[in-house]
Amino acid sequence: MSDDCIFCSIVAGDIPGRVVHETETTLAFLDVNPLARGHTLVIPKAHHARLDDLPADVASDLFAAVHELTPRVEAAVDADATTVGINDGEAAGQEVPHVHVHLVPRFDGDGGGPIHAVAGDRPDLSDAEFDDIEAAIAES
Ligand code: 5GP
Ligand code: ZN
Repeated sequence: MSDDCIFCSIVAGDIPGRVVHETETTLAFLDVNPLARGHTLVIPKAHHARLDDLPADVASDLFAAVHELTPRVEAAVDADATTVGINDGEAAGQEVPHVHVHLVPRFDGDGGGPIHAVAGDRPDLSDAEFDDIEAAIAES
């Protein structure tokens, strides 16, 4: 628990949250400023800022909750699809430094875009650059 973390305060019950799902290690609640009807945040109860900080078992629990909730949220708001995303780090747009998965219900013709729309300029990579990146990740 982090004293000045808004999501830790929701877990602790110190500030209200519209909780839709809870397990021993995870909590899901409605986003207070939703991008769509049913926009839900799924978090580990323990305070971890970045995905890389999560212990493997908590990461599994988190994805299990995402897996269970996605169709439930979709059905509850009669959505056609869901965008699932994590802003992992400030440069990616993370504002609350407590890992959270966004479940954003999507509707045919809602005017939104695919996850490809989040990035800036696309790189034009040579085969050698692809080779270097492939090796850097595979060997890390
Ligand atoms: P981020 O930009 O960090 O990925 O997203 C943070 C999300 O948390 C935003 O969508 C924002 O609306 C939501 N949020 C911020 N403060 C609160 C709060 O006090 N309660 C709830 N339910 N959501 C919050
Ligand atoms: Zn926290």
